[in-house]
Amino acid sequence: MAANILIVEDENAILELIALNLHQSGFNPLRAISAEIADSLVKNTLPDLIVLDWMLPGMDGITFAKRLRANSDTKKIPIIMLTAKSEEDNKILGLNSGIDDYLTKPFSPKELIARINALLRRSSPELTDEPVNILDLTLDPLQHQLTIKGKLIQIGPTEFKILHLFIKNLNKVFSRNQIMDKVWGNKSEIDDRTVDVHIKRIRACLANDGYDKIIRTIRGEGYSVSEKHLS
Ligand code: CA
Repeated sequence: MAANILIVEDENAILELIALNLHQSGFNPLRAISAEIADSLVKNTLPDLIVLDWMLPGMDGITFAKRLRANSDTKKIPIIMLTAKSEEDNKILGLNSGIDDYLTKPFSPKELIARINALLRRSSPELTDEPVNILDLTLDPLQHQLTIKGKLIQIGPTEFKILHLFIKNLNKVFSRNQIMDKVWGNKSEIDDRTVDVHIKRIRACLANDGYDKIIRTIRGEGYSVSEKHLS
């Protein structure tokens, strides 16, 4: 479940440096050398985050960012802007173009990865990499593995994402809408009932070990996961 990160950068050396670092950090890098190419990539893949150079041939980064923000399918995708000069900083902040963060070139790849992780934690908590657990149940997003008491449990990718979201936010009540938003993102061909179907499947995966009880249905509100529900 590696996050798809789209890099829009016309300087090939920088593009490849970023792609390499993203890959080494467990992300899936997508490459575009212009905003026009990025535009068609975004429509097909809906990346989880975009690293966007400001100065590009053709459409510039700011214009492209504004276009993304104006479209309901893409307005929530976090954007980190790359700028060439520090004097541009104030302009970026003043432009109010919906940029979530920015870095001035030259920047350290380590810093970029840290900023990406920080933004993804906010926008897609199910996509960060560290294993999470509740009692003897552990989810490892990098390996895409669910274990209970060390025993491997089969689980589908969507069920994995939902369970991961719950365990990263123990005791929080999620409405069906919030779950759809976090797990399916902007694709809206799903409805409330779909969420219920997946919750049912998660419970079935956990039932043998009695962990199905960690998921409680809260009538009229949604779902919540807590170890308290076990007792
Ligand atoms: Ca450039």
